[in-house]
Amino acid sequence: MSKRDYYEVLGVTKSASKDEIKKAYRKLSKQYHPDLNKEEGSDEKFKEIAEAYEVLSDDDKRARYDQFGHADAAGGFGGGGFGGFGGGAAGFDFDDILNTFFGGGGRRRDPNAPRQGADLSYTMTIDFMDAVFGKETEINVNKEENCDTCGGDGAKPGTSVNTCTECGGSGQVSVAQTTPFGQMVNRRPCPTCQGTGKIIPEKCSECHGAGRVNKRKRIKITIPAGVEDGQQLRVSGQGEPGVNGGPAGDLYVEFRVRPHERFVREGDDILLELRVNFAQAALGDEVEVPTVHGKVKLKIPAGTQTGTTFRLKEKGVPNVHGYGTGDQHVIIKLVTPTKMTEKQKQLMRDFAAVSGDVPDEYQSSLFDRLKRTFKGD
Ligand SMILES: [Zn+2]
Ligand SMILES: [Zn+2]
Repeated sequence: MSKRDYYEVLGVTKSASKDEIKKAYRKLSKQYHPDLNKEEGSDEKFKEIAEAYEVLSDDDKRARYDQFGHADAAGGFGGGGFGGFGGGAAGFDFDDILNTFFGGGGRRRDPNAPRQGADLSYTMTIDFMDAVFGKETEINVNKEENCDTCGGDGAKPGTSVNTCTECGGSGQVSVAQTTPFGQMVNRRPCPTCQGTGKIIPEKCSECHGAGRVNKRKRIKITIPAGVEDGQQLRVSGQGEPGVNGGPAGDLYVEFRVRPHERFVREGDDILLELRVNFAQAALGDEVEVPTVHGKVKLKIPAGTQTGTTFRLKEKGVPNVHGYGTGDQHVIIKLVTPTKMTEKQKQLMRDFAAVSGDVPDEYQSSLFDRLKRTFKGD
């Protein structure tokens, strides 16, 4: 079973603050605590949540996880979590990776060590409904790929790559410097091979010796059902290719969800304003209400006030992590007519004549609120 993304497990975005992570953890761990939740699988979920929190709450572990994903973060360097890198494991130089990504101070960098490719990010604007129900789609991403013509070594087909004689292939040369503390030897990138340790006598005409070319690549993306604006999807291994047999980076797709003309999303719930006229509100009515799942009949009871909310259970958005479906809240808005025919006006006058003033009880709640405002509490 492939491991779920830790951010996804906690339901937070990649840019979530420590506080947000803590809050999400508290909420979820309560929800899935084996003592409180007897549902099947809650035990596994609880463990998953605890593991995700362990990594994301620790700055160091989180930084490593952001770079390397599950392959490293949980297991620690060289430990059990290492398996993810696969075949190239034996020759892997972690110092080198640390140097590359964390700017580790002046440690030796072996140009021949495998290095992970860079992560890529992509922002994708999607329709409201696609965010609700998910969708299989494709995106075009400009990224570096290994050059097909030379197979990635940068040499013209049929010719070979030589080891740099200046630095003996290490990519570094020693430079002696006299300082107030005495003679110091510094290592600098080799000027002959620009630190690659290799010399290409005849360069590949396609990539001019770089070994990689920029290509536009179509990548299949599954928009997860229930995804929210700003959430990210990690597409493992679709970043730039690794160097010297290192693993490829990841592609992070951030979703931007277009607003809908009627539905407003609030987490997994949907809010909908439903306009009714005075007669419907006063006498009651049965109306058809749009939901993302199609039309639903809603009974408006006689005497419904404006602002009353009705809940349509499970007519909202499926939770992106599979925890059920939200509701739709229908908020009644009483519309006062502005253009009336003479007949309507007459009926209203007749109505007013037999109704008298609005009884005090309808004003009391507003009056109470005003009183409280003036008292300052
Ligand atoms: Zn090439
Ligand atoms: Zn060199």
